[in-house]
Amino acid sequence: MRKSLVVGNWKMNGTLASAEALALGVAAGLSSSSADVAVCAPYVFLPRLHEILKDTKLALGAQNIADKESGAFTGEISATMLSEMGCKYALVGHSERRTYYGDSNASVAARFCQAQSKGIVPILCIGETLEQREQDQTFAVIDEQLQAVIDLAGIAAFAGAVIAYEPVWAIGTGRTATDDQAQEVHYYIRQYLASKDQSIADNMQILYGGSAKPDNAKGLFAMPDIDGGLIGGASLDADSFLQICRSV
Ligand code: PGA
Repeated sequence: MRKSLVVGNWKMNGTLASAEALALGVAAGLSSSSADVAVCAPYVFLPRLHEILKDTKLALGAQNIADKESGAFTGEISATMLSEMGCKYALVGHSERRTYYGDSNASVAARFCQAQSKGIVPILCIGETLEQREQDQTFAVIDEQLQAVIDLAGIAAFAGAVIAYEPVWAIGTGRTATDDQAQEVHYYIRQYLASKDQSIADNMQILYGGSAKPDNAKGLFAMPDIDGGLIGGASLDADSFLQICRSV
């Protein structure tokens, strides 16, 4: 049985004070959740959150990670730095990174490897745009995004990773994929992995992301290949996020 995982993605929101309050609010409500729960916070809040979350069940993650180990890469944050700040997870290839900051499939694969090299679990974000869906390219896009990482890291590396399927048209738009639409792609992703390694596919946590909220989480999480969620907007409110965590 796969354990459920719910991850909050705070994106570029909040202040240090609001981040502390939100993290503590979530941590306080976690005893009644059977899922593993993490929040991916802005880099600069990580040291403080690492301190205050130490003895709680709430794990910490980063929203991105450098594709190189160290050196002259102004503005980048390395896997070593994130590991020192207590990050258990790092998002790689979030669609906002791919769209606005040019993160390519190759650089996403390199970030995935950097995370794992320091014991951080990469959460590999994949998903199609609306245009790609309408042109029936969803599965081709998923193939490309997955295969780029398999080519560099090898299929065995997926044993220490999480995948988040996030249809780009559903992110921050209020337009959630239906339970069946999400399940169809999650199933496809699992079959793709199974064609390389059955046991890795069976054990892979595949999260859904894209306008997941307290009122639609239960239906999504009930689908057989959906193992939890990557939650943006609704993770900025402790009560809403906890409700989602309790929906697994
Ligand atoms: P959303 O964001 O829940 O606000 O749609 C999800 C994400 O981008 O990870």
